[in-house]
Amino acid sequence: MSSTPPHWLGDVESKPAPEPLNRVQALVNTVELPEGPDRLADPDDARPWLVATGLLGPESDLRPDDLALVRGVREGLRAMLVHNSGGPAPTPSAFAPLRDVATDSTARADIDERGEILLTATGDSVPARMIELLLIIRDAQRDGSWARLKACGNDECQWAFYDRSRNHGGTWCEMSSCGNKLKNREFRARKRSGKSG
Ligand SMILES: [Zn+2]
Repeated sequence: MSSTPPHWLGDVESKPAPEPLNRVQALVNTVELPEGPDRLADPDDARPWLVATGLLGPESDLRPDDLALVRGVREGLRAMLVHNSGGPAPTPSAFAPLRDVATDSTARADIDERGEILLTATGDSVPARMIELLLIIRDAQRDGSWARLKACGNDECQWAFYDRSRNHGGTWCEMSSCGNKLKNREFRARKRSGKSG
């Protein structure tokens, strides 16, 4: 894993996670729920993003099953972030794509010139490279930053944001589109309950 600036993040995050945890945040935020554009729906859109984020080697082929796997991992990660926000624990099926990555990929240890131990994926395919996300999560779980990566509490949004509040009590992503979704939901709720205005 390199420490180059995250030029690949593309989207401007209002609550960005620190590196390298922002790689996990960036994957979760490749789709705008509930019906927004999905950067990982089409191979021609997905390939440059996957290469830029290091999840696919530049010379490697994007295989037919890769996008389904990476979208499955994305939603498994989102389920974990919902749990970080105080929501229910992920179901076994949410963890299944992450377990596939854990089972099917391997990491190699290396030592840099300062003596720091690095762990990197041993392959260039999408399934091989995704183990780097698991390694990032493992480190973040140990240093406590993982608990601050959350999914927005608006269940129609679930955008991944990094909670920098002192008491870890942040709930909302604060995207302007999220606010609109919330207003719409409140409006519908008021209509259902028969109130006006
Ligand atoms: Zn939101």
